[in-house]
Amino acid sequence: MNPNQLRNEDNPLDAMHARFDLAAEKLGLDPALYQILKVADREISVSIPVVMDDGSLKVFRGYRVQHSVARGPGKGGIRFDGNVTLDEIRALAAWMTWKCAVVNVPFGGAKGGVVCEPDKLSFGELERLSRRYTAMIMDVIGPDRDVPAPDMNTNPQIMAWIMDTYSMHQRCSVPAVVTGKPLELGGSHGRVRATGYGVGMMTREALYRQGMDPKQCTAAIQGCGNVGSVSADSINGLGVKICAISDIHGGIYDPSGLDMTKVRAHLRENRSLEGLDIGDRITNTQLIELDVDVLVPAATENVISRSNAKKVQAKVIVEGANGPTTPKADEVLESKGVFVVPDILANAGGVTVSYFEWVQNRIGYYWDERDINNRLEKIMVNAFQEVCAMSDRHEVSLRIAAYMLAVSRVAEVTKRRGIYA
Ligand code: NAD
Repeated sequence: MNPNQLRNEDNPLDAMHARFDLAAEKLGLDPALYQILKVADREISVSIPVVMDDGSLKVFRGYRVQHSVARGPGKGGIRFDGNVTLDEIRALAAWMTWKCAVVNVPFGGAKGGVVCEPDKLSFGELERLSRRYTAMIMDVIGPDRDVPAPDMNTNPQIMAWIMDTYSMHQRCSVPAVVTGKPLELGGSHGRVRATGYGVGMMTREALYRQGMDPKQCTAAIQGCGNVGSVSADSINGLGVKICAISDIHGGIYDPSGLDMTKVRAHLRENRSLEGLDIGDRITNTQLIELDVDVLVPAATENVISRSNAKKVQAKVIVEGANGPTTPKADEVLESKGVFVVPDILANAGGVTVSYFEWVQNRIGYYWDERDINNRLEKIMVNAFQEVCAMSDRHEVSLRIAAYMLAVSRVAEVTKRRGIYA
């Protein structure tokens, strides 16, 4: 599909298909493989009845989509959110396939979601919802089938409930059924910080490639949750001045650089920027358009679109979030010469350490944080170099190069395995 024919700029599935189509065209992908890889292997939709604290019964809708299991078990988070749609989960599942292939970890791609408002559920209701959802998808998950993980509004506690529910049915402990677990249950050192840490590494590599000195650079970070806060720390650690950071309610801005010690301490206590009285208040729209060298969207989808891409002043964008840039915006940014490190590469640190967690669970031997971070760095930097080489060879953006690398890897495995009839 040509990006000009997008049905809906805001539909992440259309956005994923637009990039997949461009990559497939550049690769001259076999039409049979194109048909296989374009759609998900399996999609399930489940009904989740939950007894609420007041004794009433509420039925929630949940999904698990396995886009591809050709390169290994499906891998991908579970999102609890009121706006979850099947198309969003389909897009996120496919992005996981491409992401795992870009960093070359032996997983396919999957994603799950439950339509709910987690902040309106009590602890007990959340536990019953998580356990019943696990029971409903139990036949399709497992260490060799599909390995869930946290995503928006899910956390290590929810992973613990999933692991326990699955284990109770198997009559033995199966820690490798999910990643992102608490350390005590077989979680990995370094998992919580892995995505933001990887974003920091990708920023360093991007600046180096663009001949920019980090110590002379400024950055704006959208989002200060798991990915945004650690990205801000890691990028600041390179010597880059963090001039702006935001949460869902808006941001703070100081052109001479925010006091990151204060920001860090406040976020540790409050997990939002509310009540932090430094810099000027700005909106999330203003943050995207700031005069900074590096922009890190680390919150949500479609924040750089046809309506604001022209106003982006950053020279380098490192996508901490999944799908923050629409295909229309890609065209504008490319014409302006903005260097974009795409989501399926930039935020792959999380799934890479999830892979380490799964490996450690299976061998029953655990590495320390330094070991994890060294292994992570090797994989991320290697993937960056491979994507850049593809970009140079085919004269395409890093995004299309990353898709080309990923699609060619998944296509090769699919072709070699052949079609079981
Ligand atoms: P999170 O819930 O910890 O944090 C999200 C942050 O974004 C919060 O600061 C929130 O206030 C802000 N936010 C939410 N909606 C917003 C909006 N409309 N405008 C501006 N800010 C908004 O989530 P996270 O784990 O940091 O994930 C952020 C993004 O990174 C998501 O796209 C997620 O899919 C992606 N991602 C996360 C990981 C991971 O390991 N956590 C890995 C890869 C990709």
